[in-house]
Amino acid sequence: MNLKDYIARVDNYPEEGIVFRDITPLMANGEAFAEATNQIVDYAKELEVDVVVGPEARGFIVGCPVAYELNIGFIPVRKKGKLPREVIEIDYSLEYGTNTLTIHADSIKPGQRVLIIDDLLATGGTVKASIDLVEKLGGIVVGCAFLIELTDLNGREKIKGYNIKALMDY
Ligand code: IMP
Repeated sequence: MNLKDYIARVDNYPEEGIVFRDITPLMANGEAFAEATNQIVDYAKELEVDVVVGPEARGFIVGCPVAYELNIGFIPVRKKGKLPREVIEIDYSLEYGTNTLTIHADSIKPGQRVLIIDDLLATGGTVKASIDLVEKLGGIVVGCAFLIELTDLNGREKIKGYNIKALMDY
C-alpha cells in the first residue's frame, strides 16, 4: 500500500501560495490508517517508549491509536487555556507572531521515555516546543514520529540530534 495515495494536496490553503497536505483521506480509510499506525508502533517498539505525547489537534489523532496499541498512556500538549489543571508553558515563534503551548505539570515523571507524535513536520517549531515541555518535566525524548515531513522547510535542523521518523516526505 502506498500511503501517499491517501494524502490530498490542497493548493493555496490556508493562504495563497501554500500547499497544504490533508491527512483526512488517510484517517477515513481503515486500512491506510491502520498501516500508518502500525508503522509508527514498530518504530516505537524499538525505542522502548513509556508514554506518547502529541500536540493538538492532529497529534491526538495520530498519537492516540499508537499509544492504545502499545498499551501505554497518551499526554496532550495544548494551546494555552485549554488544559484544566496546573500547567507549564512555552512560547514559540510562528511565521507571524507567537504561540503558547502547555502540558499538565504532573503528566510526565522524570526519566520517562517519551515519543512525540504529530501529523506533520514543517518548520519544526511545534515539535521543538513539545520537546522543551517534556524535558522541563524531566522526560527523555527518545523519538519524534510524523506521518509527513515537508523536507524543504528544514524542520529536522531545529531538532538535530533527536531520533526522527517520518512515514512520507514531500
Ligand atoms: P511546524 O511547527 O512549522 O513544524 O508545523 C507543524 C504543525 O503545523 C503541525 O502540528 C501540523 O498539524 C501543522 N501543519 C503545517 N503544515 C501543514 C500541512 O500542510 N498539513 C497539515 N498540517 C500542517
